[in-house]
Amino acid sequence: MWKTRLKSRLHCVFEEEKDLSPLSALGVGGRVELFAEPSNVEEACSIFCLRANMGFPLYILGGGTNVVFPDGKLEGMVLSTRRMTGRRWMTGDDETVLEVGGGHLLSSVVHETVKEGLSGAEFALGIPGTVGGAAAGNAGAGGRSVGDLLEEVTTVEADGSLRRWKRGEFEYGYRYFSPAAPNRLVALCRLRFRRAARGDVDCAIGEFRRMRSIQPQGARSAGCAFKNPPQDSAGRLLDSCGCKGLRVGGAVVSEAHANFIVNGGNAASGDILQLMALCRDIVFRKTGVRLEPEIKLMGFPEGLPSF
Ligand SMILES: Cc1cc2nc3c(=O)[nH]c(=O)nc-3n(C[C@H](O)[C@H](O)[C@H](O)COP(=O)(O)OP(=O)(O)OC[C@H]3O[C@@H](n4cnc5c(N)ncnc54)[C@H](O)[C@@H]3O)c2cc1C
Repeated sequence: MWKTRLKSRLHCVFEEEKDLSPLSALGVGGRVELFAEPSNVEEACSIFCLRANMGFPLYILGGGTNVVFPDGKLEGMVLSTRRMTGRRWMTGDDETVLEVGGGHLLSSVVHETVKEGLSGAEFALGIPGTVGGAAAGNAGAGGRSVGDLLEEVTTVEADGSLRRWKRGEFEYGYRYFSPAAPNRLVALCRLRFRRAARGDVDCAIGEFRRMRSIQPQGARSAGCAFKNPPQDSAGRLLDSCGCKGLRVGGAVVSEAHANFIVNGGNAASGDILQLMALCRDIVFRKTGVRLEPEIKLMGFPEGLPSF
């Protein structure tokens, strides 16, 4: 019922019964009732207004590099930011601010800033997905994260209004960004970079490239399956508990990196969740540490299964 009413009021590209599996880096997931692709902030605001009135479930999707959707039919709407890719440079003498839409690719930011001799985004080399997704989860590597770059963020609020968060009005930490909430869209980000010597930028890029080389290459994954517990590494714990190579259906714990669960061929999202639950339980039994998922389980109200 809500779908019929909604379709006549949507002013952006949308599709019914959209297969989500090609949109997730893991290549899993079923179909969603409605898939909408706003191409600007106004269109996104109008979707949030409609949701506030009609109350349908809404899921935000960036690059799909850190999510799992259920295998069956997902009720509600997936809002994809992939068309929200606007970009604007604001250049000063020593510093440059880049304003991008939430759907702009993080890899493009790395590429473009490095080309311009700007420093700041080198740590994000090899982190796939969008700037909005990276901000929402404060993606990072090697002790640096997107929060370090954020000068200002504009969000679409649950009621469809816009809110600006200047630096100092938000907090961030390990995979944490204070404005992030299920019904709040990161629509625009202003990122600050400083001019640096070419050699320094190239050197930092080389270091992050070396760091990436230990991760599974070419496999379908959603990055690290679990967050690092305080003062420890989830990968180390999983490895020491013998999780490498464990398999449930088509889901496999990578031999290259124990915190990467890969789609070894025809995995279902149920396989991914079961394998994550198995790994979590093994680590808990052997070490007493309860690992928390880093991958976002979208449309699974119960979270990981318990055995
Ligand atoms: C090979 C590989 C390597 C990776 N390496 C790293 C790494 O080194 N460090 C790291 O932190 N992560 C890493 N990741 C995980 C992932 O790439 C990041 O978390 C990335 O920032 C997710 O962005 P996305 O656009 O793909 O978000 P999605 O996967 O689409 O969504 C992730 C979450 O963010 C929310 N979201 C997405 N866009 C928005 C938005 N505009 N506004 C509000 N919420 C939004 C979604 O609702 C969901 O909850 C890796 C993943 C892969 C596959």
